[in-house]
Amino acid sequence: MINFKNIFKKKQKVVKLIKLENLRVISYPNNLLRKKSKEVKKITEEDRVLIKNMINTIIKQKALGLSAPQIGILKRIIVVATKKYYLALINPVITKKEGKQDFEKEGCLSLPNVYVNIPRYKEIIVEALDIKGIKKVIRVKGLTSRIIQHEINHLDGILIIDYNKKFKR
Ligand SMILES: [Zn+2]
Repeated sequence: MINFKNIFKKKQKVVKLIKLENLRVISYPNNLLRKKSKEVKKITEEDRVLIKNMINTIIKQKALGLSAPQIGILKRIIVVATKKYYLALINPVITKKEGKQDFEKEGCLSLPNVYVNIPRYKEIIVEALDIKGIKKVIRVKGLTSRIIQHEINHLDGILIIDYNKKFKR
């Protein structure tokens, strides 16, 4: 159940609404990917443009999510593609994890051709600000839950390879 109002409606509209700007996704081992991102204190117009461009980037790259540190901006901002919407979450915090964790292979735009089997909670409750700075609480399940956990990891400098014992941090 996603009842998040901070949403860019239908996928097609997004492309028309926004002036496209190509963001460069940084890749491992760029050390910015290992930094802890900072909370957004005040959401500026610049942040909103950034979010729109991040959404355009996932559309173009056919990705499911993206975090600001992946484009070299150390702010706690993520975007997530769900079946129907694109979500933008600012300062997201997981306040509840429910059920068991299940394993699934994940990839990452910053680690091309790397896939790691990762345990994630099936259902979570997330608190975040929307683009207007209004606090929202959402409950997400399944793939969306998984993507949000992946993207929040990025805000803390955690990458999918950290779940693989073959790679050391
Ligand atoms: Zn990633």
